[in-house]
Amino acid sequence: MNPTRRQLLLGSATALCAPSLVLGATRPRVVVIGGGWGGLAAARALADSCNVLLVERNPRFVALPLGNRWLAGRAGSSRLYHDYAAAARHYGYRHLAADVQAIDRASRRISTSGGALTYDWLVLASGISEDPGALFACDAAAVRHYQTHFASTYSAGASLEALQQRLQGFTEGEFLLTLPLAPYRCPPAPYERAVIIAHAIRSRQLKAHLTVVDPNPPWPAYQRIFAERFRQQVSYLPNTRLRQLDPYRQVATLDIDELRFAAAIVMPPQGAGSLCRESGLTAADSAWAATDPRHFAAIGDERVFIVGDSVGSVSPLFGHYPKTGQMAANMGRIAAAEILARIAGRSNEPALPDSTCYAYVDLEPAEFVRIDTRYRLRGDGLLAQTINQQRNPYPNGEDEIWLAGQLQELLDPAAS
Ligand SMILES: Cc1cc2nc3c(=O)[nH]c(=O)nc-3n(C[C@H](O)[C@H](O)[C@H](O)COP(=O)(O)OP(=O)(O)OC[C@H]3O[C@@H](n4cnc5c(N)ncnc54)[C@H](O)[C@@H]3O)c2cc1C
Repeated sequence: MNPTRRQLLLGSATALCAPSLVLGATRPRVVVIGGGWGGLAAARALADSCNVLLVERNPRFVALPLGNRWLAGRAGSSRLYHDYAAAARHYGYRHLAADVQAIDRASRRISTSGGALTYDWLVLASGISEDPGALFACDAAAVRHYQTHFASTYSAGASLEALQQRLQGFTEGEFLLTLPLAPYRCPPAPYERAVIIAHAIRSRQLKAHLTVVDPNPPWPAYQRIFAERFRQQVSYLPNTRLRQLDPYRQVATLDIDELRFAAAIVMPPQGAGSLCRESGLTAADSAWAATDPRHFAAIGDERVFIVGDSVGSVSPLFGHYPKTGQMAANMGRIAAAEILARIAGRSNEPALPDSTCYAYVDLEPAEFVRIDTRYRLRGDGLLAQTINQQRNPYPNGEDEIWLAGQLQELLDPAAS
């Protein structure tokens, strides 16, 4: 098949990608599973040179980094949701709205609710999965009850509207927010949610209180904020584990005592998207995907690349890359460059990703923390990480500009 005029035109717009490869009937077939940050970036970077099919089960893209702001009433829903078909048309790949059921790596076949597919190269960008069964000893009824009343709403398919209703319906009593053990998706986001709830308690003068149960060491910036700005509203319990949860009596058993709650956001343990596990792509001792740390080829299968939040430890010095949107998109681009190099039979020095993340530490007056993570390759071949964290009391829309730029890159210039 010859490239379309649009694809030829797009060639100049995506000059950062590797040069065009063999076109015509021999264009390599790449299937990208998952239309989140990692998958969209990979699909865009490959579309000029390959026949790319993006398979995504959700009807529309949700900009998760806007989710908390939308919950706080600081962002409209027109910016939260975006159209996959428009992005695919704009960047010159195909989009299939379907659920992927299984990957047969030996025959490079994929079963989906929309039919079977074959691939030359596969980019698996299926995000995270949560394991609520771990909280309820796999009691299916308890898990269903949890999903309706206390779910984390942390994945692309989860209903933010349902969480908004839960938050609006909370008028008095104890609110329980529990975090999972790190690593988990978007490290500051649960604390940002805590700030949103604490701010609602303060501004609506509710007879209510929030307890944040965190099995991880304290996050200093938020620990200070909770103590300085929300002393009346928040108890922050770092290094504290949720031992048991009775979803019917609404009682949480913590390391130290029991807590009865009126409402809750309970975040179960996280791991790679379930397709990674079901396809034998997670490390033996980990819930996360096993990949090459530089170009993200799956360990044991050079035709499969795994990008985004699914990716497991990349360095013994710091463990995982932060599970953020910008990082996922960077991984998608790096994996795409590696695939293009392999198809062309040339060597490739993978770029190093970076991440910037903004999270509110207060809403009135608005103030956020900006977290920059940068990487370098040490002489011994290990990846080293530098984290720079800054509180900014005068945001001036800096976070908005960041998000608009990211969405334009992923979706299309009119998306932000
Ligand atoms: C509340 C919140 C706030 C956040 N704030 C920020 C922020 O400020 N900055 C930032 O950089 N990041 C932020 N993040 C993190 C960011 O959203 C994630 O890091 C990013 O979405 C990861 O991209 P991904 O491609 O790995 O996964 P996802 O974006 O989750 O995409 C995975 C996709 O795969 C699809 N999928 C999975 N399995 C299948 C299947 N079997 N068949 C078909 N499709 C499938 C899913 O439907 C989903 O669309 C935030 C996240 C949350 C929840």
